[in-house]
Amino acid sequence: MPLTPDGSVDYPLCTTPDPGGWQEVAPGVLWIRLSLPFQLDHINVWALDGGPAGWTLVDCGLGDPRSLAVWEMLLRDALGGRPVERVVVTHFHPDHIGAAAWLVERTGAGFATSLTEWLVARTLSAGTDEVTDAVVERFYRRCGLEEDALTSLLARKGAYRRGVPAVPATLTRLRAGDRLTVGNRRWTVIGGSGHTAEPVSLHRPADGDGPGLLISGDQILPRISPNISVWPSEPEADPLADYLDSLEGWSVLPADTLVLPSHGRPFHGLHRRAAELALHHAERLTEIEALCAEPRTAAAVTRALFPRPLDPQQLLFAVGEAVAHLNHLIRKGRLERIAGRPETPAVDLYRRPAPAGPA
Ligand SMILES: [Zn+2]
Repeated sequence: MPLTPDGSVDYPLCTTPDPGGWQEVAPGVLWIRLSLPFQLDHINVWALDGGPAGWTLVDCGLGDPRSLAVWEMLLRDALGGRPVERVVVTHFHPDHIGAAAWLVERTGAGFATSLTEWLVARTLSAGTDEVTDAVVERFYRRCGLEEDALTSLLARKGAYRRGVPAVPATLTRLRAGDRLTVGNRRWTVIGGSGHTAEPVSLHRPADGDGPGLLISGDQILPRISPNISVWPSEPEADPLADYLDSLEGWSVLPADTLVLPSHGRPFHGLHRRAAELALHHAERLTEIEALCAEPRTAAAVTRALFPRPLDPQQLLFAVGEAVAHLNHLIRKGRLERIAGRPETPAVDLYRRPAPAGPA
């Protein structure tokens, strides 16, 4: 089987669908590709054939008019006009949950995700207020962002609601270990954390009919490292610790599981890919620790890790990723934070702890 540049084994038996296109990737599983207006220009969503009960859709794409028009076509053609039993979303990000409310309304389907992902989506789609805006601004100021970068980040206010005009008002709560019956097949909910707080993945064991499958959302991706970020609402968080734990958790699934990721192509090599991602973060941590031999701001660390020009959305993810690694190093005792003082500029610095003096 061909090796991809990242060393994982690509799935050779199918070609990538065009945007708005689809193809069967395993018995009863359609791979649908939707376009996104970002640098990451597509998302994969999955339609699981439940027979007479109808389809289970996993993830939705954005809720913008263009995506909804594509869904009208997909409901008719890819899904043959048959009912949709439920819409599952893996996590609250707009490219995954954006069209869910419309799909639920349009088809009468149920809606399922974890409680945390649903609550975060409901909160973000309700909009913001002055107190929250001030918290967001203070967080990025403390990171040491230059004024023009700060302005471009703060101008993104309202971006979530543009991608997610509504979130379903009710849900079927999914927890790790839950079983979902789709037709005569059973899928198990796999928990985890890191990319978001409580994402949902789905696993179906191999049977006589086809390979074992893992719908992984963004928790594991074949070519890019899923974003692991700290956000202004939880500035002390250590999502990287959660993510590294989750990477270890994939070892309980069979090594030959076919992974169906939200971005990129289906792939084999789950264990190897998890090990590569763990190594990537270990190297990043070492790099940042070395950078902070001299006191650095989070913005300076961001620029060192991501030296290319970044648009505001990429900058947001890059700063969040830098702070996630900095917070993890602080938890591990490898760095310390010198908190900015209230007077201007209140910027946090990160540095290696001073060596302990003689006893
Ligand atoms: Zn995501």
